[in-house]
Amino acid sequence: MTPRPPRRNPILAPRQATLPPVSRSRAGTEMSAWAAAGTFALQTCRDCGAVQYPPRDVCRACLSDRLAWRPADGAGTLLATTTLHYPYELYFRERAPWRTGLVRLSCGVTVGAFLHPALGDAPAEVEIAARLDRAGHTALIALPKDHADFEVSQMREFTASPKGRKVLVTDAASPAGLAMVKALVAAGAAIVWAGRAEPWGIVPGFEEAVAAPEVTVVPLDVTDSDSVIDLAGRIGGRTDIVINTADYHRPDRAVGGLGVETARAEMETTYLGLLRLARAFGPALAARAAEGPNHAIAWVNILSIYALVASPSKATHSAAEAAALAFAQGMRADMRASGLRVVNIFPGPVDEGWHQLDLPPKIAPDALARAAVKALESGVEDVFPDPVSRQWYERWRADPAAFSRELAEAGQ
Ligand SMILES: [Zn+2]
Repeated sequence: MTPRPPRRNPILAPRQATLPPVSRSRAGTEMSAWAAAGTFALQTCRDCGAVQYPPRDVCRACLSDRLAWRPADGAGTLLATTTLHYPYELYFRERAPWRTGLVRLSCGVTVGAFLHPALGDAPAEVEIAARLDRAGHTALIALPKDHADFEVSQMREFTASPKGRKVLVTDAASPAGLAMVKALVAAGAAIVWAGRAEPWGIVPGFEEAVAAPEVTVVPLDVTDSDSVIDLAGRIGGRTDIVINTADYHRPDRAVGGLGVETARAEMETTYLGLLRLARAFGPALAARAAEGPNHAIAWVNILSIYALVASPSKATHSAAEAAALAFAQGMRADMRASGLRVVNIFPGPVDEGWHQLDLPPKIAPDALARAAVKALESGVEDVFPDPVSRQWYERWRADPAAFSRELAEAGQ
């Protein structure tokens, strides 16, 4: 077990979070949206084919405004390096020195990048990765070939690793929640609080998993405001990462279902549960976003691909997921000011009880939990962890209107 960091002196002012510079052009923000999903993308001119960097509104070669974003090949050559000892921005100065360099990409553009500590001097073959800085904007990082360990020195600034941190899993009594507890212990979390609403309905393997020395079972019912506030009073001031696995869903079509009970129960857990958690735990997390090396860092929502594309066979479930996603976008905006990340995970059908009738492929709870931990470790904010969710996301991203009609016609 990782030793506990020394307790903070309550008389001293807490360390305030600083952020990297926040303003970006609209095209630059688009690059960040790709980086949020872990993809290094560049604009390509539809007319002359020139690849663009930095992001811009018209082509650098032919002045066409028909620029399209495409995933880019990050392979390139490190041309030159320099070390910044006294950066102008406060955020960077607090964390100086920074090694940076110029990388010539095989697609013909040259980019400036932060250098991974394992990289030597130029020239060297490198791979560019796009990640987000603590302000939520693209940071390009030059990695050695076959090396992507972000757990070293300043690379940690671009991640939200659970290693050494104290993590709440809101519903550990579900297959996905229990898998999350195990994955966090394996990833080196200092404490995992495993939320449990009821003493019954426990998934197989629960007692063994929570017997690990890092794990403490805590009572938490996200449908009950008092329960959420009670727990936040006990552990909210120490929690570094919240992983909301609480979810309730039943197959229920739009027309043909009976009454509003299913829909109400889904909203109560999936949407209002998230809202209760955010209001009870969010402010304390934000206040501790700069405190010590293992400060509060992230909020993870296990949503569903149905939050983006509604499934006709799960109309009420899709509606609750869409509500939770809309709220999560608000959380991301509010928490950004303190540098906290909101990570949204959008699995396709999960291989558990209430997705019995869905056709395979389905993602196993263990694989979902590993994807969530990997997203934290590698600094990705929007995660599509399985083939179904990736394919649906790509088609949704290309043409949302056409894809929703396609699903409606398939009746799925
Ligand atoms: Zn052009």
